[in-house]
Amino acid sequence: MTFSHGAAMAFERVSRLASIPALFLLTILWLVTAGSASAITLLRDPDIENGLEELAFPILRAAGLNPRRIKLLVVDDSSLNAFVLDHNAIFIHSGLIEKVQRADVLQAVIAHEAAHIANGHIARRIGNLENARTLSRLGLGLSLLAAAAGGGEAAMGIAAGTQSSALRGFLKHTRAEETAADNSAVSYLRWSDISIKGLIDLHRTFAGQELLSVERQDPYMQSHPLTRDRIRSAETYLESYGDQAPANPDADYWFARVRGKVSAFSRSSKWTLGRAAEEHHRDIRMMREAIAWHRDRNLAQARAAIDAAIAERPDDAYYVELKGQILIEHRQTQAAVATYKQAVDLAPNNALILAGYGRALLGAGQDKAALEVLERARARDYRDIRMLRDLAVAYSKTGNDGMASVVTAERYALQGRPEDALIHARRAVGALPTGSPGWQRAQDVLLASERSVKRKR
Ligand SMILES: [Zn+2]
Repeated sequence: MTFSHGAAMAFERVSRLASIPALFLLTILWLVTAGSASAITLLRDPDIENGLEELAFPILRAAGLNPRRIKLLVVDDSSLNAFVLDHNAIFIHSGLIEKVQRADVLQAVIAHEAAHIANGHIARRIGNLENARTLSRLGLGLSLLAAAAGGGEAAMGIAAGTQSSALRGFLKHTRAEETAADNSAVSYLRWSDISIKGLIDLHRTFAGQELLSVERQDPYMQSHPLTRDRIRSAETYLESYGDQAPANPDADYWFARVRGKVSAFSRSSKWTLGRAAEEHHRDIRMMREAIAWHRDRNLAQARAAIDAAIAERPDDAYYVELKGQILIEHRQTQAAVATYKQAVDLAPNNALILAGYGRALLGAGQDKAALEVLERARARDYRDIRMLRDLAVAYSKTGNDGMASVVTAERYALQGRPEDALIHARRAVGALPTGSPGWQRAQDVLLASERSVKRKR
């Protein structure tokens, strides 16, 4: 079973959570092109995103970017790609995370994408989008509006299927941009004490593909055209300056953790358990085993393994969060609430952990408390489809059908489903007091959806 299929199953199971123990834990977000069936799915996992942030932090700072404002988001896709759509996020395919073998190679990917942001390549592209019609073709327009309505966060970080040819064109950098991004990336890596051997190895991964037809190339190759010159200039740089970068056990640790968690979900439990001994960080090994046992529906073993990981790092909110998810999906609702409460105490501002806590409360029938916690999650990060679904349920269960409709309309808008968004936005506008904040949000989605639906016809 592919990761994608599994994640989709988890998504479908959200609404029937109480009856079926889901096999997969990761929160996902569908991003859909307007008028197209292709979608990209984000794997929203707080542990994986935190590990990527740890790896990215020195690089973003070296690039003059604010590490707190740029999210590292994982796309559930086994092909190799990484891209930026705006100034708020760097997208990395799960396939690329699994493919690379060392922290410095993944950090080279991040440095190169950070350079596209810092050098203004993406700003120019957005500036060139002449009108709303182009935005709509890319599937961006509605998301932009939903973002403005839902979170106050600028722009989207939300877009289209990577298979869409419109998006492919949008993402394609020129060779001049690639050379400039490489030069900047080399500086960022050097200032961060990270070996540029990672950049060279990244290039070598794709070397030779320029001779292949587009269909056979990795998408990374299409968005970031590689030339011999780029490999040569990185190699020349290494020859002239040598490799002064010291070993970095911290980076190695976060890389092992990110890659270990991604693969524990994407590979079979047998594969993960068979390779457990290869992982020399004991906590990471136990975390991976916990996921494997959980996917085998063995709660006792999963619980023992995650408890062993927590014992190694008692203040680690992300391990406690994983335990909470394991408990939820085995319908241990009261224990899940208590465990998520611990995770929130350790990381009170993490939107994905708050969303999980809200889900646990909802499962335990504590609807009012769930509503309050889920609203806190939404205020911090609206790009979480499962959270929005839970939030609508919490509103509905506490008797506020108008707000349930607003949140549902916003969720459909984010999913690129304007017809459905329109139905719920109309319902919300009818139910809420004119001019109230919820009414205003519904109105925004209503207008955007109407325009989008009209354009489609
Ligand atoms: Zn590039």
